[in-house]
Amino acid sequence: LRDRLKDPSLLREQCFIDGAWIGAGATVVTNPANGQELGKVPKMGADETTQAVEAAARAFPAWAKLTAKQRSNILRKWFELIVAHREDLALILTSEQGKPLAEALGEVDIGAAYVEFFAEEARRVYGETIPTQRADARLIAIKQPIGVCGAITPWNFPNSMITRKVSPALAAGCPVVLKPANETPFSALALAALAEKAGVPKGVFSVVTGHASAIGKVLCEHPAVRFVGFTGSTEVGKILYQQAAVGVKKLGLELGGNAPFIVFDDADIDAAVEGAMVSKYRNMGQTCVCANRIYVQDSVYDAFVDKLAAKVSAMKIGDGAEPGVTQGPLINEAAVEKTENHIADAVAHGAKVIVGGKRHALGGTFFEPTVLANVRPDALVAHEETFGPLAPVFRFKDEAEVIRLANNSPFGLASYFYARDIGRVWRVAEALESGMVGVNSGLITTEVAPFGGVKESGLGREGSHHGMEEYVEIKYVMMAGI
Ligand code: ADP
Repeated sequence: LRDRLKDPSLLREQCFIDGAWIGAGATVVTNPANGQELGKVPKMGADETTQAVEAAARAFPAWAKLTAKQRSNILRKWFELIVAHREDLALILTSEQGKPLAEALGEVDIGAAYVEFFAEEARRVYGETIPTQRADARLIAIKQPIGVCGAITPWNFPNSMITRKVSPALAAGCPVVLKPANETPFSALALAALAEKAGVPKGVFSVVTGHASAIGKVLCEHPAVRFVGFTGSTEVGKILYQQAAVGVKKLGLELGGNAPFIVFDDADIDAAVEGAMVSKYRNMGQTCVCANRIYVQDSVYDAFVDKLAAKVSAMKIGDGAEPGVTQGPLINEAAVEKTENHIADAVAHGAKVIVGGKRHALGGTFFEPTVLANVRPDALVAHEETFGPLAPVFRFKDEAEVIRLANNSPFGLASYFYARDIGRVWRVAEALESGMVGVNSGLITTEVAPFGGVKESGLGREGSHHGMEEYVEIKYVMMAGI
C-alpha cells in the first residue's frame, strides 16, 4: 500500500499521543478484499489512554482560549490538506475497509466537508441575552466548550465518522482523544498526520489504537473527560452509557438502525428503484442508514421487484480498488454469516430468492448482492439489521398498515419513502418514528443537516449547527446590583 501512495508518510504505524508518534506495530491490519497484510498498529490500553486524556486536559485551556477565528483557521487548513490528499486517503480507506474507490473518494469528500462546515461554524457559537425579571439585574447565557472529549468510531466509515466528531469538538474549543475501529486504524492515523501538519497543537487531538474495552473504559470513566461521542453497535453503546453514568458524562450515541424503505403506489417507480440501490447497496449494505426492510404497495410490487432485480444483477463485484467495481467484500466472516442467516430464515418463512442469495464465487468475504421477494413480516430480517447486501421486499396494502409495520421496531434512525401525493408525504413523514426521513431520496447524509436517531438508535445529533451544541455547555450568568 505504501508504494501506491503519493505521500507515503500518510501510512502511520504508530499512535499519535500528546503530539508525538509513539508505540510499535503489534496488531496486523488486513485488506478484506484479499486478506493481505497492510501494516501493523500498536496495541495500547488504559495507561496510554490515560496519558492521552491527561495531555488533552493540559492542552484544553490554551485551545479554548484561542479566538474562534484562530481555531477556524487551523480547521480550514486541515480541510485543505484532506482535500489535497483525497486520493491517498481514499486508497487507504478502500484498502482497509473494502468499499469501492469511488465510494471511498465520496466519503473523504464528505469527511472533509464536515471539517469545512465546522471551521465556519466555529465562529457562530452565539449566546443569548434574556429579558430580565428584576430591574437591578441583567441575564445572559454564554456557551463554553464542554471539555476533554472522547470519540469512538466504527469501521464502516473510517474517515467521515471521525471528522464528524472531531471537527465540531475542536471548533468549540475541546480537545479529543480518538479510538478508531481496530479494522480501520490507518484512515484515522492519516487524518491525525494531516491535523498535525495543519497546526493542531500538541495534545489537542490524540489517536489511540488497541484494546477497545480498556480504552473505552478510560474515556468513559476518567474524571477529566466530559463528553464521549460514539458510533457503533447498540450493544456497545449501552455499555458505554452505563460506564458514563459513574461520572455523569454526556454522551452522543449513533447506534444501530433498521431503516424501512417504503414505495407507495403513486411513486415514481424508477426513482424509487434508484433510491433503493443507493440506500441498500452503498458500502455493501454496511451502513446504519441502509434500507433494511423494503415495503412496496400491492399494485406496484411486481414492477418494482423486476426493476430492482435487473439493476442488482448488473452490479460489478470485486476488489474495490479495481476500476468499475460497485460492490467490494464484506468486512469479515461474521458479516457474511449474518447475511446468510437472514436469507435462510426469510426463505424458511416463504420468501423467494430473485437475485443472488449466496457467497460470491470470488471467495473470501465477497457476497452476491441479493433480492428477496414475498418476505413475510415475521422474518428475522424485519426485526434485525442485516448490515449486508440483502434487499428483502415486503408487500403491503395501505398507508396505515405500512406505518404500523415501519414503526414496529425498537430502532429509529433513518426511514425512506417514495410518494408524490403531497398530503401523503406530510402524513407519512410525520408518522415515521425515526430521527431522519428521506422523501424521494435514498441518500440523506450531508454536513449541513442533523444526523441522529430516536428510540434505541441513539442520543444527540451530528452535523449542522445542532452538531456543535453537543460540544458546548450553556452557562447562565446573572449580573445584579446594577
Ligand atoms: P461493529 O459491530 O460495527 O464493529 P462495535 O460497536 O463493536 O460495532 O464497534 C464500534 C467501535 O466501538 C469500534 O471502535 C470498537 O473497537 C469499539 N468498541 C467495541 N467494544 C467496545 C467496548 N467495550 N468499549 C469501548 N469501545 C468498544
